[in-house]
Amino acid sequence: MSKAIISSLYDSDVFKMACRQFDQAADAISLPDAIRDRTKYPRRCMAVTLPVRRIDGSVTVFEGYRVQHNVSTGPSKGGIRFHQDVTIGEVAALAMWMSWKCSLVGLPYGGAKGGVIVDPKQLSESELEHLSRRYMQEMVNFLGPHTDVPAPDVGTNEKIMGWMMDTYSTHVGHLSPAVVTGKPIALGGSQGRREATGAGVAYLVKKYLEDMKIPITKATVAIQGFGNVGSETALALEGYGAKIIAISDYTGGVYNPKGINIKKALAYLQYAKVLKDFDGAEPISNEALLELKCTVLVPAALERVIHDKNAPKLKCRLLAEGANGPTTNAADKILEQRGDIEIIPDVLCNSGGVIVSYFEWLQNLSSFYWGRDEVLVKLFAMLDKAKESVDAQQRKFKFSRRLAALTLGIARVAEAKGARGLFP
Ligand code: GLU
Repeated sequence: MSKAIISSLYDSDVFKMACRQFDQAADAISLPDAIRDRTKYPRRCMAVTLPVRRIDGSVTVFEGYRVQHNVSTGPSKGGIRFHQDVTIGEVAALAMWMSWKCSLVGLPYGGAKGGVIVDPKQLSESELEHLSRRYMQEMVNFLGPHTDVPAPDVGTNEKIMGWMMDTYSTHVGHLSPAVVTGKPIALGGSQGRREATGAGVAYLVKKYLEDMKIPITKATVAIQGFGNVGSETALALEGYGAKIIAISDYTGGVYNPKGINIKKALAYLQYAKVLKDFDGAEPISNEALLELKCTVLVPAALERVIHDKNAPKLKCRLLAEGANGPTTNAADKILEQRGDIEIIPDVLCNSGGVIVSYFEWLQNLSSFYWGRDEVLVKLFAMLDKAKESVDAQQRKFKFSRRLAALTLGIARVAEAKGARGLFP
């Protein structure tokens, strides 16, 4: 029997969901009790308050977190999220998924995630800079190129990573680019990092459609979320010849059965800031988008958007999880029973981002920089390898693809923890 004595610190639907996934995977591979809870629960977390002077002279205190889930297999790795709905439970769940993701694709990293409760759209550029720098300042003793390496996530970007890297470097007294990935190229960012997650999602979609004998040029695609992941996935899939029929952001979506011109939508977004009223398509709600008849559905925003209510109504053939945790446990069960939708689970599907983060870190540590083609060739080779290992695990044990991916990721972390032993 598992006997963890754990508080309700992380209690939330999303943390429970990540724990449930872990329990199912641990049961499926009969993970010994002695290693189970050590592998499951986050190693440590930090909570900080972040006072920021606003442009009107007032001060607002924000709250931020960093959860380091696993540090046994290398420096912990994972993005920092700026979003008004961030909770420490969500950050813990996301950190847990980073552990399995890094392990599954064979990166020498543990897993972590950070978050700040803030709507970054409500801040001016200078307020955003102060918040980002203050977050790094508060975390400076807990992060580092060989300790914990942040990256962008929902609501953060290259510019923010640049400010954080600069704050850390100023603190240690020398340039330390490897402390953060997803930086601007001028500060040691990698070629191909900005598009990496979306390029990886699109590449895996192409591969799985090939397995399903569906020509990508005949595929229709609906994408929920048009931030970095959603937009780069759309561009890459359009490049492969697929037809993108619907896209959406937090203001709602647009739908055009004849296909949306993604470059035009991006150009519109540049000045309008939101997709609302884009005239190349008709309006559609985020909920309706998920239930559209299409070949490929890509949730590319937040967690738990596919649940027990809409899972029976999905009309896609392939569900490609660009977001982390988009499918609840209940929805997963429904989809498994339906058996007519293939799933590329998040830990595999969106791993392109952290893979190229790893390349960026390697380039920073060696001060030797690669070209874009080299980055993409290496990215696709790693994705091929991860896909093959998941497919083999699925065939061998008759697991769902999610269970195959999670068992591989979890088993490798558990094995490393077992081999390291327990001190004292
Ligand atoms: N935030 C991204 C993810 O969820 C990237 C993490 C990273 O590059 O470290 O995978």
